Amino acid sequence: MAPGGGASCKELVESWPNFTRFDTKKTQVEKSITCIGEKFQRCSIHGVHELLECPICKRSMYPPFYQCPNGHTLCTNCKNGAHNCCPTCQVELGNIRCLALEKVAESLELPCRYQNVGCHKILPYYRKLKHERRCKFRPYQCPYAGSECSIKGDISTLVLHLMEDHKVDMHTGCTFNHRYVRSNAQEVENAIWMLTVFDCYGRQFILHFEAFSLGMTPVYMAFLRFMGEDNEAKMFNYSLEIGGFGRKLTWQGVPRSIRDSHRKVRDCEDGLIVPRSLAIFFSGGNGEELTLKVVGRIWKVHSTS
Ligand SMILES: [Zn+2]
Ligand SMILES: [Zn+2]
Ligand SMILES: [Zn+2]
Ligand SMILES: [Zn+2]
Repeated sequence: MAPGGGASCKELVESWPNFTRFDTKKTQVEKSITCIGEKFQRCSIHGVHELLECPICKRSMYPPFYQCPNGHTLCTNCKNGAHNCCPTCQVELGNIRCLALEKVAESLELPCRYQNVGCHKILPYYRKLKHERRCKFRPYQCPYAGSECSIKGDISTLVLHLMEDHKVDMHTGCTFNHRYVRSNAQEVENAIWMLTVFDCYGRQFILHFEAFSLGMTPVYMAFLRFMGEDNEAKMFNYSLEIGGFGRKLTWQGVPRSIRDSHRKVRDCEDGLIVPRSLAIFFSGGNGEELTLKVVGRIWKVHSTS
């Protein structure tokens, strides 16, 4: 090309009448959006997620998207918390929308972010965000109850994590027989969290056993949670029996999915609850040492209803 080709191009643009320039501008924007869109679809899914993720809080962005004068994007939440100063480059933020990226997001159909673990859904961006919050392939939260634990993962990762990091016992088989001993029966605190994992029917169940105060009444509670989705949990039943010295309490229930937090199951009292007064009878009645024998069984429900 002859030298000065760039200048003649500029002249040409400037000589366009106003309305043409407007139209051209619009087409240019649309063109650039299609172009970015195509580029997006070509680049890896990971890259797309990254672009639509707020670089500050790492969450997927919902419109309006914002950017600083230097082009650093951020979500509405982070913009509101940024005190008008770009968290990335520290320049004054102002109120600059990032419309192009919003439009790109709108135009995209993307696979669910849990594609690599088995979800095959492909959805428009904003619907995808909603779906991902409920997607059955999303990672589970660590089901350990004793402390806040931030570990997330699939079931096999969590089983390993429970055994290695929380030192939880693992039992194989669908029946169990446990003995819980407390040296001081008067102590009922939120502090005892006993947890056992059962491996049966090729699935994992967690038995919780704990002491707390239900209103003013100190109680012991045992319940089973299922390491999987709610609809699968309903395919099982379990029974628990706590007793001794001629007395016995039994419970039959449906294991609860670990999607429901331990706290939620406990608070709705979906398990076997033994008042301390009764627990003392079960362990011989002296009220000093407490020994509770828990016998349980898990089975599959064969019903089509
Ligand atoms: Zn953010
Ligand atoms: Zn910036
Ligand atoms: Zn999904
Ligand atoms: Zn954990």
